[in-house]
Amino acid sequence: MNLKLQKIITIDGPAGAGKSTLARELARRLTWIYLDTGALYRAMALTAARRGLDPHDQAAAEEMARSISLSAHPKPEGTAILVDDEDVTALLRSPEVSRNAAVISAWPGLREALLGIQRALGTRGEVVAEGRDMGTVVFPEAGLKLFLYASPEARARRRCQELTAKGEKVGFDEVLADITARDEIDCSRPVSPLRPAPGAVTIDSTNLDIDAVLKVMINAFRNRFSPGILIKGNRQ
Ligand code: C5P
Repeated sequence: MNLKLQKIITIDGPAGAGKSTLARELARRLTWIYLDTGALYRAMALTAARRGLDPHDQAAAEEMARSISLSAHPKPEGTAILVDDEDVTALLRSPEVSRNAAVISAWPGLREALLGIQRALGTRGEVVAEGRDMGTVVFPEAGLKLFLYASPEARARRRCQELTAKGEKVGFDEVLADITARDEIDCSRPVSPLRPAPGAVTIDSTNLDIDAVLKVMINAFRNRFSPGILIKGNRQ
């Protein structure tokens, strides 16, 4: 057993369940590294669009994934991505990139191309890795596996609040439809479908706020790793 891999926490779950906020905060409290693997799939989707490729075209997507020069650089606030030495991080959050990332991430050759990058970052240890297949495929030896879930309606409600706070006008039905469509794609793909890893602690955050979920996660961490460990104080 690789002891460093043991010092990995995986957080998997559907879009909008709060994984990013919680993974980032948990990593900050533990002074571990935060790894957002969705950014890698988003960078693939962005690059495909820039090259005029259809994300539904498996052969083209897999060929691109084999030839692309892509690197990931974990930072406390998120994972920076360089494609051919260009920092594309700021371009990864648009609705179009989100939709195309869900489509392009279904292709096995593309997932395979990203496996090495993710594992190389994980073998340093002390990593909180967030995605869809962290506990099932990428880090099956992780010391603690978490699966964060919330009802589609609760996730859509949170997403609407976030967007409204940013001054964007969106309809609840539209956001809910988008979330349901991404769930369907993530859960039904033959390779690395979204599901809880064996032994994962499943947390339903439908009726819990961020601080309540964080408490559950920290308790799971203490039980698994180190009951007496000191963990940094309140959320900033
Ligand atoms: O987590 P995020 O929404 O940034 O992920 C973007 C897309 O990338 C997801 O919809 C999912 O289809 C895909 N993804 C994946 N495996 C991961 C992380 C993300 O398939 N480990």
